[in-house]
Amino acid sequence: MVDDDAVIRDLAEDILVSEYEVMTAFDGQDGWEKARSWRPELVITDLMMPRMHGYELCKLLRGPEGLGGVKILVASSKPFATDKAQALAAGADDYIVKPFAINDLTDKVRKLLSGGGAAKPPPPRPGENSAITSRSSALAAPPKSSVPQPVYVRFWGTRGSCPTSGVRTVRYGGNTACTEVRVGDVPLIIDCGTGMRELGVELTKEFNGRPIEGHIFVGHTHWDHIQGFPFFTPLYNPRNKFTVYSVHGARSSLRTIFSESMALDYFPVPLTSLASKLNFVELEGAVDIGAARVSFQHMNHPGVCIGFRIEAQGKVITYLSDHEGFAKLGGDSDLARRQDAAIVEFARGSDLLIREAQYTEKEYAARKGWGHSTYDDAAAFAAEAGVKRMAIFHHDPEHTDEIMDANVKYCRDLLGKAGSKTQCFAAWDGLKIDL
Ligand SMILES: [Zn+2]
Ligand SMILES: [Zn+2]
Repeated sequence: MVDDDAVIRDLAEDILVSEYEVMTAFDGQDGWEKARSWRPELVITDLMMPRMHGYELCKLLRGPEGLGGVKILVASSKPFATDKAQALAAGADDYIVKPFAINDLTDKVRKLLSGGGAAKPPPPRPGENSAITSRSSALAAPPKSSVPQPVYVRFWGTRGSCPTSGVRTVRYGGNTACTEVRVGDVPLIIDCGTGMRELGVELTKEFNGRPIEGHIFVGHTHWDHIQGFPFFTPLYNPRNKFTVYSVHGARSSLRTIFSESMALDYFPVPLTSLASKLNFVELEGAVDIGAARVSFQHMNHPGVCIGFRIEAQGKVITYLSDHEGFAKLGGDSDLARRQDAAIVEFARGSDLLIREAQYTEKEYAARKGWGHSTYDDAAAFAAEAGVKRMAIFHHDPEHTDEIMDANVKYCRDLLGKAGSKTQCFAAWDGLKIDL
């Protein structure tokens, strides 16, 4: 039983221990090590876990160093159809949504152990190889920098889902997600939506022939978060060096996902032809980049999606895009409350929270399960996390400048009513914030 939530782990153990020998593991990495030494007949695994997520564990268990005929049951609080399909494709035999009824769990376990419900492992994917990337490792002490460096944030794309041009969105802008966090001379880039193109132009101007060493953090790889990548011209300069960070994908490695997105069917220049030095790092924990420490947290969104917390020079910036509250989507339960609280804690005390909010409550009613939040969700979240400033982010393509003005006012009113001191505004393409 592999789960980072101790309550669920203990509960499943209590339920199953009368009939089976049960061993527990606290995350994917721990589960993988224990599964290999203990060789269980069934692995029950969560999806969203630190260090290694459940999709990757499924793939390892089904891989050449895995456990052959082991049965795998994924138990996740993510009810999205995408996650079930991707878990089965990664090698899971069955899927159960948490919190589960005791009988549902025992039925599925019994069925799997009696030989029912087994799916064949998928064939290896062409091109999927061991050229994966380095893995980040856990860190000891926080980074120190003796020289104070200015920290600022610049938004290059703030729209969600689809680029949106035209006169109705000129003030907030229409480029999709791309945010620059600067600590001195080191650019940290969060997400590679279409806003990344202009960032590339600006960096080339600013560095004026000096080599650029940049760090690109990718929350997830839906189109609106990667489409600017091939148009980021500093990638074509052999003097530059970039590192792309995220977690392993649900189906393939981070490098493979980027490589496939630039297959010749979609773009004329393949990833391997980019002239800059390009590394891909699959995160297992926090990483230190110069004076900045970047940690991550899984979000509730179809597929694999993570948010980031950047700490540098005594400032904290949290980026939570593409997230639907656990209790909001799955109903109120102790588990959902713990999961929602974990994300609030992740953002606790931020100087700047960049928080997605895409819908009004009315719009949400028809879009429940799409993996996004409402303005009410964002305001309640910011108040609870006690953040100094909140930038509303990932604007819906249907939200014109006038609608956005009204949405911001609505959020401010909610925060005011809640007695919160959080300053709220909507991010717009080109906005720069000194911290
Ligand atoms: Zn998005
Ligand atoms: Zn998305």
